Amino acid sequence: SLKVIEGLSHIGEENAFAVLARANALAAEGRDVINLGIGQPDFPTPEHIVEAAVRALRDGAHGYTDARGIPELRAGVASDVQRRLGQEISPDNVLIVPGGKVTMYLAIMMFGKPGAEILYPDPGFPIYRSMIEFTGATPVPIPIKEENGFAFSADETLELINDRTSLIILNSPANPCGGITPESEIDTLVAGLDAHPDVAVLSDEIYGQMTYDGAPHVSLLSYPEIRDRLIVLDGWSKTYAMTGWRMGYSIWPDQLYNHVRKIAVNAWSCVNAPAQWAGLAALAGPQDCVRDMVAEFDRRRHVVVDGLNAIDQISCATPKGAFYAFPNISETGRKAKDLAGDLLNQTGVATIGGPDFGILGEGYIRLSYANSIENIETALARIDGFLNR
Ligand code: PLP
Repeated sequence: SLKVIEGLSHIGEENAFAVLARANALAAEGRDVINLGIGQPDFPTPEHIVEAAVRALRDGAHGYTDARGIPELRAGVASDVQRRLGQEISPDNVLIVPGGKVTMYLAIMMFGKPGAEILYPDPGFPIYRSMIEFTGATPVPIPIKEENGFAFSADETLELINDRTSLIILNSPANPCGGITPESEIDTLVAGLDAHPDVAVLSDEIYGQMTYDGAPHVSLLSYPEIRDRLIVLDGWSKTYAMTGWRMGYSIWPDQLYNHVRKIAVNAWSCVNAPAQWAGLAALAGPQDCVRDMVAEFDRRRHVVVDGLNAIDQISCATPKGAFYAFPNISETGRKAKDLAGDLLNQTGVATIGGPDFGILGEGYIRLSYANSIENIETALARIDGFLNR
């Protein structure tokens, strides 16, 4: 047998991609499938962003770039952070990466080793746990509870820290529950981190611009006291409907930046050059495309939540951010994964079972409302029909 590393057998995946493949296979058989499984905007990338990539290709952006990302784009990220969050960052702390996910890969690889403990949200994005297990570190779930509005509890998080803790992963607005952690809770959490100066923080802020009812996005960048150990994950996939472009960025503290820059040189040399120019057009161009998209998600959010709550045996808290609803299905008496499987096979509605996001996901399913209102209404009618008729 081959002498591969132990972590290989522990690596997991995102079931959303398996559900996507199954939904596509059913659709290919002629079934009428509505996919509320995968988390990606159903809008095309705005035209001016696409044009910028085409122009870059015509203008000769065909070669390697600086491994950190083109200087114009790193400066563009710094200006965007200033505009949105009022926080000063240096372009020299920005790394352009091939997709937001790559930042979590890098951070977890840097801090994960056998004997170390990494805290991550449960329910949460499944890749956190998968990558932690890959490194041989111990995954320590931070409970994300419906009764807390699906927000992080500072006290419960701080209680989990010990001498072995190397990294804490935060995510707000959150996938899959749609929770936003209030500023007061983040204040308490950051204050508590004072007692643990050798613990790093990875803040996944990929849904930072998808908040509703005027809820502010509180970036961990607003806390100067942890800047020297804070990694911020962000990118273009969700905000600008660019999931297939594979463009993301991260902000790294000085003490880690040179290491991560070298990993970039070792692993991918640089991100696709025309995509970087498109990324710059996205940040520097008009932002009404973002506002329009979020306003549309907001309309759909109401349709989904009201529709789910009208279905017997289902109750759904109103998500405050991102584009997912995480209804409680425990009254149906079914296992969440069985329900998700039956819904897809029998009604053609693709959703994801809560346990795909963690132990505390049992009793829930995730619906992405990045789909048309018409499709959402049809899907809800099918779910109601399946459960109650
Ligand atoms: N972080 C969270 C919480 C996500 O839900 C996702 C995508 O689903 C990502 C990061 C990764 O985004 P990207 O497509 O840019 O890799």
